[in-house]
Amino acid sequence: METNTKSEGWFFPINSRKAHFFRNGRSLCGKWGYLGDKFDSDDLASPDDCTQCKKKRTIELENRRSPSKASAFRPIQADRV
Ligand SMILES: [Zn+2]
Repeated sequence: METNTKSEGWFFPINSRKAHFFRNGRSLCGKWGYLGDKFDSDDLASPDDCTQCKKKRTIELENRRSPSKASAFRPIQADRV
């Protein structure tokens, strides 16, 4: 149900060594801002992806695929208590 007008996606900031996933002008890891509308790809798998952005994006995709299992995701630390 998404429109063709992209407002989110992976982007490689010029002064960054990693690609970040941006939404509404802000990276998921919260460290970068980008107000353009050009993105490299919706979900390209690359070793250059920011690990924090990738982790959050992966969880989003998993939740979208199986919304009923969304509650199964917990912070990693919770299992180590
Ligand atoms: Zn990032």
